Amino acid sequence: MSIAENLKEVQEAVASAAVDANRSPEEVTLIAVSKTWPMELIQEAVDAGQRAFGENKVQEILEKVPAMAPELRWHLIGHLQKNKTRKVLPLCAMIHSVDSLALAQQIDRIAGELELRPEILLQVNVAGDEAKFGLAEGDVAEVVEQVESLKSVRLRGLMTVPAFDPNPEKVRPFFAALRKLRDRVVDQTGTELPELSMGMSHDFPVAIAEGSTLVRVGSSIFGKRDYSK
Ligand SMILES: *Cc1c(COP(=O)(O)O)cnc(C)c1O
Repeated sequence: MSIAENLKEVQEAVASAAVDANRSPEEVTLIAVSKTWPMELIQEAVDAGQRAFGENKVQEILEKVPAMAPELRWHLIGHLQKNKTRKVLPLCAMIHSVDSLALAQQIDRIAGELELRPEILLQVNVAGDEAKFGLAEGDVAEVVEQVESLKSVRLRGLMTVPAFDPNPEKVRPFFAALRKLRDRVVDQTGTELPELSMGMSHDFPVAIAEGSTLVRVGSSIFGKRDYSK
């Protein structure tokens, strides 16, 4: 199958998951995760109409984004080291992986210097998984309040990456937990948090059923990644 055909299939699956959940398909943005894939393949997705792309490594963003059409929206979905912020900020529309107040403050300071207004999400470790990045659930409300007072970043919502499980029903509770946490924090702080970034190739229908607004889909569009090279 071609990338255009894969994309069409994923778009249809996203739309039908939304409809099944009594949601409008327009509420869910499909982010094509192009990490490890070369520019030619990303261009095929662009030619098929895809505009939102996700990358998890700063190095790949630095190589790819300046070489591609300027109207694309790039999402940083991987861990960001503080010292890489200045390079990556002008190239990304949204940073999903803000996992500490210190990182949010750093992004805000540099965004102010560069006169940028980046959108950010707070990454939450809802599974309490020691191997994963992310804020502890109990810290989110406090961090939201602090980030709200920053001048340049625009806080849009929450993101989570549960540990991989081949059975999407096993991760449903983590998606539901992120949505409930969001609802609680909105009540507590009065801050709007419209975006929930959750769901990947094998589990995005379940994530959409639980309220996802940003699904991050790589292998179902581009194929299986090869990390051996
Ligand atoms: C790689 C990656 C994805 C996409 O994973 P697929 O299983 O290929 O769809 C989504 N989110 C994050 C954070 C990733 O690193």
